[in-house]
Amino acid sequence: MSTNVKLVDKAVIARDTMAFYFEKPDGFTYRAGQFADYTLINPSETDEEGNTRAFSFITAPYEERIAVATRMRDTAFKRVLKELPNGSEVKLDGPYGDFTLHKTESIPAVFIIGGIGVTPVRSMIAQATQDKSLQQITLLHANRTAADEPFAEDFASFAANNPNFKFVPVVTDSTVEDWNGERGHVDEEMIRRHVSDLNVPIYYLSGPEGMVKAMRQLLVSLNVNEDNIKTEEFPGY
Ligand SMILES: Cc1cc2nc3c(=O)[nH]c(=O)nc-3n(C[C@H](O)[C@H](O)[C@H](O)COP(=O)(O)OP(=O)(O)OC[C@H]3O[C@@H](n4cnc5c(N)ncnc54)[C@H](O)[C@@H]3O)c2cc1C
Repeated sequence: MSTNVKLVDKAVIARDTMAFYFEKPDGFTYRAGQFADYTLINPSETDEEGNTRAFSFITAPYEERIAVATRMRDTAFKRVLKELPNGSEVKLDGPYGDFTLHKTESIPAVFIIGGIGVTPVRSMIAQATQDKSLQQITLLHANRTAADEPFAEDFASFAANNPNFKFVPVVTDSTVEDWNGERGHVDEEMIRRHVSDLNVPIYYLSGPEGMVKAMRQLLVSLNVNEDNIKTEEFPGY
């Protein structure tokens, strides 16, 4: 589907990270975890990367609006997006993708996510919580510091409302003080602390390509079946 969507709100949700909220067009449907391509209409500036970017939905299908979130790098696309007044339209093509939660609820899901790769995960866990799904879901979400973590409050709220969801925030910057969660890069010991039998779940990895590749290698080295690893790589980070 190709349609114009109207920007209705925007907010800073973590360090250098913004969310953009759009009116959901009538009849527009998608599955939690999918993404769309967003194209700026007559932008005031552009560069060699062009006027289109792929962004995952952070919202779940049951939610009233559609929204995306991104790290605000200094590129023409993001400068224009940041300044876009509410009421402006962008072109949306989508939904696309199959980075969506598996349907068999008896098989647990484990998300191992770096930074902004958490966008489709918010959508999936919001929907599972709304649906009162019985699926066991564990999210390990690594960020440099707590200030870099989008959706910490949302995930805490989902965990409070969904007894089957476990939220494990991780900070990788060793100088961070006042932190009770996990620390350091996600490694075998950390995964084993939160996943009792490594061969049971389906794993979801998303975010910067380097992180996704490193986590896939780690899981494969732990004899996880590659068929049980789903990935979404965000280029450009
Ligand atoms: C399925 C999917 C879902 C995504 N979801 C999100 C999301 O929810 N939030 C989010 O922030 N981002 C998401 N992305 C990434 C997003 O589309 C942008 O690529 C990213 O935000 C960087 O955009 P930019 O304007 O900052 O940098 P860009 O101007 O796009 O580029 C930054 C740097 O990356 C390089 N680069 C750009 N594209 C590629 C490429 N394809 N391969 C290798 N190098 C490249 C450029 O040459 C440049 O050096 C998603 C991507 C995909 C494919």
